[in-house]
Amino acid sequence: MNNVPEYFGSMVFDDRVMKSRLSSKVYQSLKKTIDEGARLDQAVANAVAAAMKEWATEKGATHYTHWFQPLTGITAEKHDSFISPSPDGGVIMDFSGKELIKGEPDASSFPSGGLRATFEARGYTAWDPTSYAFIKGKTLCIPTAFCSYGGEALDKKTPLLRSMEALNKQALRILKLFGTEAKYVHTSVGPEQEYFLVPKELYDKRPDLIYTGRTLFGAMPPKGQEMDDHYFGVIKPRVEAYMTELNEELWKLGILAKTQHNEVAPAQHELAPIYTTTNIATDHNQLTMEIMQKVAARHSLVCLLHEKPFAGVNGSGKHNNWSMATDAGVNLLSPGETPYENAQFLLFLCAVIKAVDDYQDLLRISVATAGNDHRLGANEAPPAVVSMFLGDELNAVLEAIENDTPYEYAEKTQMKLGVDVLPKFNRDTTDRNRTSPFAFTGNKFEFRMLGSSNSIACANIMLNSAVAESLKVYADRLEKAEDFETALHDMIRKTIKDHKRIIFNGNGYDDAWIKEATEERGLSNLRTTPDAIPHILDEENVRMLTSHKVFSEAEIRSRCEITLENYCKSVVIEANAMSQIAKKEILPAVLEYEAFIVDTANNKKAIGIDNLYEKKTAKRLSELAQSISDGADELDRAIDTVSGAADIISEGYMIRDELLERMSALREPCDKAELLVAKKYWPFPTYGDLLFGVR
Ligand code: ADP
Ligand code: MG
Repeated sequence: MNNVPEYFGSMVFDDRVMKSRLSSKVYQSLKKTIDEGARLDQAVANAVAAAMKEWATEKGATHYTHWFQPLTGITAEKHDSFISPSPDGGVIMDFSGKELIKGEPDASSFPSGGLRATFEARGYTAWDPTSYAFIKGKTLCIPTAFCSYGGEALDKKTPLLRSMEALNKQALRILKLFGTEAKYVHTSVGPEQEYFLVPKELYDKRPDLIYTGRTLFGAMPPKGQEMDDHYFGVIKPRVEAYMTELNEELWKLGILAKTQHNEVAPAQHELAPIYTTTNIATDHNQLTMEIMQKVAARHSLVCLLHEKPFAGVNGSGKHNNWSMATDAGVNLLSPGETPYENAQFLLFLCAVIKAVDDYQDLLRISVATAGNDHRLGANEAPPAVVSMFLGDELNAVLEAIENDTPYEYAEKTQMKLGVDVLPKFNRDTTDRNRTSPFAFTGNKFEFRMLGSSNSIACANIMLNSAVAESLKVYADRLEKAEDFETALHDMIRKTIKDHKRIIFNGNGYDDAWIKEATEERGLSNLRTTPDAIPHILDEENVRMLTSHKVFSEAEIRSRCEITLENYCKSVVIEANAMSQIAKKEILPAVLEYEAFIVDTANNKKAIGIDNLYEKKTAKRLSELAQSISDGADELDRAIDTVSGAADIISEGYMIRDELLERMSALREPCDKAELLVAKKYWPFPTYGDLLFGVR
């Protein structure tokens, strides 16, 4: 595995393979479908399928699958082999264009949020030719969209593709007004992925990690992340071996794994790929998460992707670096050389500002999960309040436009655009702010609220749609304007005036900011998932998403229900796991150790030795055992109450108000007991063991 360029993408049916294995007629026709969304005819599909099968079987594949992303948030696949009986009693390997284009998995076990009751029960998968097919293990995986027969999306990819199309359509209208040549505009994403690695033999002894992906108990070890000695620290050999193999596997799949480093918490790491088109970045991120876990197993490690595997140290997130570019490669979020280019840049920048302000709740909703609720606003990740960071220079530019004052920054001169002044400024305006939920970083925005296990599809669906809406409002007005330049200037100015409340360049982790944001600026603070999700049904949100044909109203309702259901199920599973572990593992351990202490106390007393320490400890253990038992009983009662909720929205509220509190109440005496009970009596590995166990 030395020559990376040689094996990079070796498991992908990419452009190179297509060129070499398809006739030029078939290749051209497929290319047209990929680039411009042209319809694919059956003869072309058959030729592509035959070439794909030849290629895949040469590489040892025996099966194919339509690979899709149902609303469970993970990927799904059902494998069919290529075999087809031949008259002589043997088999041939067969794969038709029909099988390539369309599949019919049994959709009934995937969440549909009531869609199936309203619509056709069956679902089908449809090939997404814009994302390359690839081989995983012995299976040819064909990226697909998953829909009901009524055409309702049952997956995350369909609305993502629709949102990209919505943005493309509106962005092209704007570019036309500027006279900028473009066939299409796409959005690109580079997602930075955080994760933890823990030793497999220790993981296997932690039922909480096994059932829920996070620790439900655990006292802080003497050392956490306070020394700041892990971030960018030297990578341990065992972790390095893991990263090396992970990169190889990702590269074979054509995934542009680029950057790797240790993160803030012990045992925490990050991987970032080079950015690519959003739907491909989404497929790649799903694959990356899967391969991270597979490769870990080969190294006797477990990769934790939960947002908060350990209390008291940082959890894991995902940074969604996002920009828009034309087919000619012009980044629309990159300040240009000429005043005209800069005016265009400013308009796209304003479109994002307006989008983030107008649809702050949709962005918040797009990252809302039970796991992520532990991070947002906990001084390790942005707060639940959405705001934007632009940096000093851009801020000064916007202020100058708003106040009609000349822009003076460093030695740069101002330039004229028609009647009004639009300033020229530097390309490289990247100051850094790590606490902002949505930060401009020179030529892209970094949306930092995503949880580590989230599919990046949801965040990008909302972002693309909201920006498409801003662009539509702009295009509607500018297309009618008599004087383009004046109208443009006025609109940029109006956007700044109307939406500057969303811009905040200070410390997003500061409590004073939350007060200012909510009380003075009127920004929304949707603290938890049950607070956030129901707002997807707000009239304005439904209007916007349906008007761009990203979702139908029924799809929005179904997603609202599925997301809340997912939240409720996750927390109830955690609550049940807590109660059972407390009763079946922790209490017996406490009692056993207590019995040992009591025995010791009696023995000492019998021979006339002082037993004050034993008595004190036994008493303390006895009190803790009582609290644990009471806490578990209360939690059980709360679980029962929650299960009687009238509907999913009220169940969410009950969990937020009742269950979570009781879970913390039960955890407290358990963690105290851990610090008192001798190590050999404690039923599972501690935080110290897990966080510092990879050596
Ligand atoms: P940092 O840790 O400073 O945020 P990284 O280098 O780890 O930066 O990650 C930056 C990510 O942004 C990478 O995935 C990179 O490919 C991506 N990126 C760079 N330019 C763009 C762009 N124009 N559009 C989208 N993503 C981009
Ligand atoms: Mg980052």
